[in-house]
Amino acid sequence: MAAVDGARLAVLVVTHLPNIRYLSGFSGSAGVLVVCGRESQLFTDCRYTEQVREEVNGVRVHIVREPALLAAADWLQKHRSLRRIGIEAARMSVADRDSLGKLLGSGGRLVPSGNTIERMRVIKDADEIARIRRACQIGTNLFPGLLDAIRPGVSELQVAGGLEFEARKAGAEQMSFPTIIAGGARSALPHGRASAKPIPRKGFVVCDFGVILAGYCSDMTRTVHVGLPTIAARQVYEAIREAQQAAVEAVRPGVTVGEVDSAIRKLLKKKSLAKYFTHSTGHGVGLEIHEAPKVAAGQKEALQPGMVITIEPGVYMPSRWGVRIEDTVVVTETGCEILTPCPKSLITV
Ligand code: ZN
Ligand code: ZN
Repeated sequence: MAAVDGARLAVLVVTHLPNIRYLSGFSGSAGVLVVCGRESQLFTDCRYTEQVREEVNGVRVHIVREPALLAAADWLQKHRSLRRIGIEAARMSVADRDSLGKLLGSGGRLVPSGNTIERMRVIKDADEIARIRRACQIGTNLFPGLLDAIRPGVSELQVAGGLEFEARKAGAEQMSFPTIIAGGARSALPHGRASAKPIPRKGFVVCDFGVILAGYCSDMTRTVHVGLPTIAARQVYEAIREAQQAAVEAVRPGVTVGEVDSAIRKLLKKKSLAKYFTHSTGHGVGLEIHEAPKVAAGQKEALQPGMVITIEPGVYMPSRWGVRIEDTVVVTETGCEILTPCPKSLITV
């Protein structure tokens, strides 16, 4: 495999499950994939005998009784030509590294490898984009029902529960992350998971949610207002909407993710809101809800067709209110396509 060769490793021990899924198709919750020049080797246990038959192709499967990592070490010992053994440094515990090192003894040298597989995953192929598009479509379709559910006095958890039930009925495997429904002063929490608090009579409600379909995630945020918004609330909302739009328009091949981020900060600065935008602009979306590239200030990575990223500026005024608007977009040859085409003008409920 080119990536392994590129790192001048004879072999890479893949332990991060989304990476295993990406390379082999295996979606189980326990396994180790040994990637080497010849046939890759997947080690898992008898809970997955049937599943691997359905999911895995072109990889040698070992159904083992011992922990998968031990079985992989055993296999590596028998193939002593593979001496420089890459491990996913950011994904393997110190305990696992130590036990792997001990089992291999002088038979191999463990080499911490960077995010080799994560880098391969940054550019999505047509099939991956189709899956993300379908996941986003489910998310987008949930929005009208969500608007109906947001009523003063109803708890955030009830709103989130209703949304998640509808997502499941529409075919979602699960949510991409714990649904965020944050009303009133709680909208100032950038990650305000739905709580038992009731939706207030007046104020913003930040709704951030996504689903997983065929293994791939969606992610979108809309902020709505309960009751009539004040002029100040309208202005803040408009500032975020404009900034988000400017960033979406900045997305095209060759532009760096840092430039996309600064398109937002420039506009918010003019309105003295930049200091309330406390997080980065976005992230890659794929098999994981947060993956490379990180769309943040100063990042030099250039956008390329096939990247799928979020654009999600927000402003948060502690203990008062918060507003965030987020789309998932795919970079095309000439710009980008919004995969979460939901209304963005201020909606009052
Ligand atoms: Zn989100
Ligand atoms: Zn996001």
